[in-house]
Amino acid sequence: MSGEQTVADVLLLLPLARTYTYLVPEALEDRLQRGRQVRCPVRGRQVPGLVIRVRPRSDQDVMSLQPIGDVVTSRPPWPGDLLDLVEWTANYYLVPVGVVARTAMPGLFSRHPPKKDPLVVFVRRPEVPPRSLRDRALLALLEAAGEMDLNEARQAVPQGAVSVKRLLAAGCLRMTEREEVPEVPGPVPPPPQASRVTPTEHQTEAIDRILEAVRKPRYQGFLLHGVTGSGKTEVYLRAIEECLALGRGAVVLVPEIALTVELQRQFHDRFGDLAEVLHSAMSQGRRVRAWDRVLAGQVRVVVGARSAVFAPMPRLGLVIVDEEHEVTYKQQDGLRYHARDLALVRGSLAGCPVVLGSATPSLESFQNAHIGKLTFLSMPRRVMERPLPQVTLVDLRYERPQGGERLFSEPLRVALQATLDRGESAILFLNRRGFGRFLVCRSCGRSLQCPNCSITLTHHRRPERLQCHYCDHHMPVPDRCPGCNSPEVEVVGFGTERLEEEVQRLFPKARCGRLDSEVSQVGALGRVLADFREGRLNVLVGTQIVVKGHDFPQVTLVGVLLAEQSLAFPDFRASERTFQLLTQVAGRAGRGDRPGQVLIQTFDPTHEALRHAANHDYLGFAVTENRIRRERGYPPHAHLAAIEVSGPDGVEVQRTADEIREVLDQCVMAAGPEGRQVTVLGPAAAAIERLRGRTRSQVLVKAGRRKVLHDLLRQVQNVFGDGRGALRVTLDVDPYYLL
Ligand code: ADP
Ligand code: ZN
Ligand code: ZN
Repeated sequence: MSGEQTVADVLLLLPLARTYTYLVPEALEDRLQRGRQVRCPVRGRQVPGLVIRVRPRSDQDVMSLQPIGDVVTSRPPWPGDLLDLVEWTANYYLVPVGVVARTAMPGLFSRHPPKKDPLVVFVRRPEVPPRSLRDRALLALLEAAGEMDLNEARQAVPQGAVSVKRLLAAGCLRMTEREEVPEVPGPVPPPPQASRVTPTEHQTEAIDRILEAVRKPRYQGFLLHGVTGSGKTEVYLRAIEECLALGRGAVVLVPEIALTVELQRQFHDRFGDLAEVLHSAMSQGRRVRAWDRVLAGQVRVVVGARSAVFAPMPRLGLVIVDEEHEVTYKQQDGLRYHARDLALVRGSLAGCPVVLGSATPSLESFQNAHIGKLTFLSMPRRVMERPLPQVTLVDLRYERPQGGERLFSEPLRVALQATLDRGESAILFLNRRGFGRFLVCRSCGRSLQCPNCSITLTHHRRPERLQCHYCDHHMPVPDRCPGCNSPEVEVVGFGTERLEEEVQRLFPKARCGRLDSEVSQVGALGRVLADFREGRLNVLVGTQIVVKGHDFPQVTLVGVLLAEQSLAFPDFRASERTFQLLTQVAGRAGRGDRPGQVLIQTFDPTHEALRHAANHDYLGFAVTENRIRRERGYPPHAHLAAIEVSGPDGVEVQRTADEIREVLDQCVMAAGPEGRQVTVLGPAAAAIERLRGRTRSQVLVKAGRRKVLHDLLRQVQNVFGDGRGALRVTLDVDPYYLL
């Protein structure tokens, strides 16, 4: 009889769509639990896997089950809520469960135990700062991180190997083969109770509400809306303290770990060895060892970028997502998950509270708070009564920059000159990601949009035309504005290099540095930031990188050169992104004692995103934007998925995309009344049509109900799989940048 036997459903660490069932030999039975690592026979090989369930054998199981080969007992079992999350993720994003496991548990795939890479450890600062800027940047990085893999350090700055050597010789670093139990690059012991800040009234209120949930503990989602400088970090730290006191662990997600030196310091100060910061640049080996410490319960607070949502934290008691609106939480390739969404799922699976914090919450979270799925907490004031900076919109229709080539209106030019004359510093911000020329009307200030999608049309040179990347609508460049009939239409858009040149030409006192995606290498980034912080540079020109949480007390002026470059981004979230960027950028001004001033140049000062950003009015913006999204049928009022086709052969890509569209249309017809609330757009050439030798095309599907959308996607998947040959068909559920 089969009823006597025990079987295990095993997640094999292969890119397979489902789990497989194995017999549990009697000899292994007492060691085999859910979450245990095992080895199982697959075509004569022993393949690693994880036990998802242990259960009695049932009649549904096939007759000839193979026995599990071996149980790994050197590692504790993986937490059950993490296993549930892996299954949930596979199901939601329509990817094989083994692919999720590869992202969630990367270390388990290595066949050999990770070898211990040599490490470099920070020892001390030298008496005189090193002459080489690279050495200085590397040293600053290591001081913040404590230690790094040797290879990692060598790659952190240009010609890093030389820098490492010099710093070792100077005794500022030392090398070790050994895994450092992080006692040496000293996390400072927790400061005495008295030195901690006294929470403000609003902080106290938020802390009390969250602590109540931490103590219960059961799932509850919070949206903590706190303006820039309202002291959200202190709220997180207090909640984590309580969580640890209750013997539970916490996971903290941050958008980009390389830029959060300050946050890392705070966590080490408060929690010492109990906190571990996971770098995105961390080698596989180190990550696996970190996760082993987490599994073993030595680390009780994990701080990391999006993949930390899969941290194997036992007895999880709290999940925090800082800057929850950040797009970096969405992984754009491979497993295209959204870490903030998964954080909420993880909390509900683990039965613990989840706190989403932001000065500019996403519309998704705003809507969830609105319908009561998230508890809304608000911190509307900066700590220490610091005022928010004054924001002025400069109307480019009236304040035209003089001369064809100029980028500065008179008010911004005067303000920057005055700032430099006072010996203070400025940030000049420009939103540009690789492309983005578009048509603006100099009379009514509007940029030209697609009549079908309300997405800004992008300007293409060859052949010259305007094009929509959602529905493929295109048109010649018109002589007159379709809105107001003015002939003053103009293609605009420029980059940071141009801006830097212009600054140098117009302002002899400017010592200008530039930060954009081309300068994104960690070392170079650190160097420019350090030079700016220490006053060797007094103007920083950059894209969104400059707005990420840096604190520069000497910055008293922030200039936004052309708000349209962000507003006209061909994406339905362009307004939201603009509001967020401007709010963050404004948050950079006036962090010190001197008040800050923000000037935003625009052709359309009546735009909702700009108006509300200037008034620091998040709620006003969110309510308006939420209404617009509902009217236009975009998230959070509809569910969206992108089906991307890419391949080296443009004709084949086009044909397949057309076939997908046909299959979708048939399914929608067959779905009857349900199908009526589905919209299929495209296929359209992706905004970046050719990328690394591959042509890209996409079909967008919008549906009112999530289930309808998922059913459609499954049908596409049944027909097309993930492509054939060199052709790839990729599903993106809840896509972000549609490029
Ligand atoms: P946010 O993340 O909300 O923008 P932070 O958490 O970075 O703000 O806090 C801004 C600054 O205020 C930090 O330097 C922090 O140490 C300080 N701070 C936080 N809470 C208090 C408080 N209750 N009293 C005084 N200073 C505080
Ligand atoms: Zn017009
Ligand atoms: Zn369109």
